[in-house]
Amino acid sequence: MATGFDMVIKGGRVLDGTGSPWFQRDIGISNGKIKSLGYIPAEGSNVIDAKGLIVAPGFIDLHDHADHAIMAFPDATNYLMQGVTTSVAGNCGLSMAPVNPNYLELLKAYLSPFLKKGFNYGWDWQSIGEFYQKVESHGTAMNLAPLVGHGTLRLAVMGFDSSTPTTEQMQQMKNLLKQALEDGAFGMSSGLIYPPGSYSSTEELIELAGVLSNYGAIYTSHIRNEGDSLIEAVDEAIRIASENNIPLEISHHKTAGMTNYGKVHGALKIMAQARQNGVEVNCDVYPYIAGSTTITSALPNWVLEGGIAQMLERLRDSKTRKALESEISEDRMTNTNRIKSSDWKGIFVADCPLHHKYEGKSLEQIFKEKGSFNSPYQAFFDWLLETEADATVVLFSMCEEDMRTVLANPLSAVISDGWVTSPDAGGKPHPRAYGTFPRVLGKYVREEKLLSLEQAVRKMTSLPAGKIGLQDRGIIREGSWADLAIFDAGTIIDKATFAEPHQYAEGIKYVLVNGQLVIDNGNSTGVRPGKILRRRN
Ligand SMILES: [Zn+2]
Repeated sequence: MATGFDMVIKGGRVLDGTGSPWFQRDIGISNGKIKSLGYIPAEGSNVIDAKGLIVAPGFIDLHDHADHAIMAFPDATNYLMQGVTTSVAGNCGLSMAPVNPNYLELLKAYLSPFLKKGFNYGWDWQSIGEFYQKVESHGTAMNLAPLVGHGTLRLAVMGFDSSTPTTEQMQQMKNLLKQALEDGAFGMSSGLIYPPGSYSSTEELIELAGVLSNYGAIYTSHIRNEGDSLIEAVDEAIRIASENNIPLEISHHKTAGMTNYGKVHGALKIMAQARQNGVEVNCDVYPYIAGSTTITSALPNWVLEGGIAQMLERLRDSKTRKALESEISEDRMTNTNRIKSSDWKGIFVADCPLHHKYEGKSLEQIFKEKGSFNSPYQAFFDWLLETEADATVVLFSMCEEDMRTVLANPLSAVISDGWVTSPDAGGKPHPRAYGTFPRVLGKYVREEKLLSLEQAVRKMTSLPAGKIGLQDRGIIREGSWADLAIFDAGTIIDKATFAEPHQYAEGIKYVLVNGQLVIDNGNSTGVRPGKILRRRN
């Protein structure tokens, strides 16, 4: 072809990501970037015929956990097949660095449910910079934008100690946070339901997050409570952001538990009010009414003091078991009461590496099969000992109406909250790891008309890019990186279900990452052109 471009996308309907309606444009790509937008006469092997297809910026997943297994699954096919070209990883306080070698075993236990079993990580990094260098040398098909996890960071200084940090410990945490930001992290994530992050008081978080304000870096938070105390938890996050004048992202916004349904209206109002007062707050949402997390998050925080090994020790003590049973059953927990909000029949085992036989079953079903459902709490504690509490679960605890309310709100971004995996990885993971973005475009845009295609794409592209300060991705314009998702708006749909989660989505025809084809006519090319993105000052 005589055009001088490396590749030309021809005849597509270009949705630029800003929320504008589509324009018919050809896109000329050179050196990984969009060099020209307009009419480009071209034909040949490097021309993609996009006639009738939507050409959108590659989707930016503002909230996932791709860092944990990207070295095991560098092709990230489950994400590319959704049109995702950039993952913002390290969310919920659970990043892979910083690492304090003295607490390495505690860190591995903390991250264990998210790590790829049997994969040799090597654990030879300490900083965020070193970790992502290692990822880069393995290669990755999608771009990764790192966050540093507050829980990981606190663990590196204090282990699983629940006490208030001393002045010296606080200084050490600040230094680690500074280093992560200097290494290019886009901000700090917290997961205030997971020990040891959950041991931090609001004051501790306010002081630590002060470091972010010197860098204009973002604070993302899996807030302290998404059930009975949702509103208080939203207030806490806003206070942390407001006192430091930093951007805030409230992660996977939802309400858990039937008695709390409808509370998202109040929470969204508080966010809108905070924005009027100058706090840059946004939220994000995945399009499902079940969540997924560690089984240990169903326990009160104090049980995890000192780490998983100590927790298992406590579960062997009959007095502790009684105390635990009454604390949970009488609903005196400070974190979200997952047994109450989902019930034994609404909690399904996703991954259970020591006992795969439990995967896909509900706790109720498991205990019934064991004949121990007549005292479910004791059955639960026994089961935790048997599985060494090394399990992730899918929990049905939300309502469709709340999810739709958050999805339709202009402040929210679409996120997966998933991880990289592949069909041969086994287990019954949450289908969001395969289906999130096509599900929004197919089910909620095309079928249910909850929001327009332009608005949905904006929530997947320019909104998350703007939120973390990416200037050259998330919008199609000359000079941007050529990260593109090219799909058929008439057929795009998720295929992954809770029963059969390992199913690629349909309708994504071509995906480009940094100008290179990673999905070609619906199939992975195996190319790994992804970059580690670093925050710029
Ligand atoms: Zn989370």
